[in-house]
Amino acid sequence: MVGKITIAPDVFLWREYFSPLQQKQLLDDVLARLEQAPLYRPVMPGNAKPFSVEESNFGSLGWVSDKAGYRYQPTHPVTAKAWPAISPALLALWAAINAPPPPECCLVNLYRAGARMGLHQDRDEQDVSAAVIGVSLGDEALFRIGGAARGGRTASVVLASGDVIAFGGTARLAYHGIDRIRPGTSRLVPGGGRLSLTLRRVSV
Ligand code: FE
Repeated sequence: MVGKITIAPDVFLWREYFSPLQQKQLLDDVLARLEQAPLYRPVMPGNAKPFSVEESNFGSLGWVSDKAGYRYQPTHPVTAKAWPAISPALLALWAAINAPPPPECCLVNLYRAGARMGLHQDRDEQDVSAAVIGVSLGDEALFRIGGAARGGRTASVVLASGDVIAFGGTARLAYHGIDRIRPGTSRLVPGGGRLSLTLRRVSV
């Protein structure tokens, strides 16, 4: 795809992959689906400390965290209903970057001012052959990504609204996180903040 920027080996960025109009259309689509699967605040395994982000999911499998641990499950932990389907625009994005099969999970994270995500690996998936794909909507965020071992060198990049990032191949298990967002840098998300949409294949 055109406009591909290499951030690190097997870590790629497309600036404003979604135009401002497409961002608004995608946002409206996402907000409508979130009415069926409301954002909620997960807690950490063990100590039950609340996340600083709110989360929900689309797709056949949603990623959840609670006192018992991290896992994928087919239903929303609060409503017990199946997750809504993944937005067509996101399935098209996946198909432009990854070979079939399609993603099973779109994790939705809402970062209000002050929210962050510590360095972690996405490793609750049985299938790690497809790249993880992330879409940013709303406020800018400082994204950090390193290698597959904790404590190594990291690269930082600002993700802005409409940007797409993908990490697969040798970077599929890379440690990554959001250091902070830059509140007030976008007016897209109602109430302010940043929505991130993370697409993943889960099962083999
Ligand atoms: Fe992650």
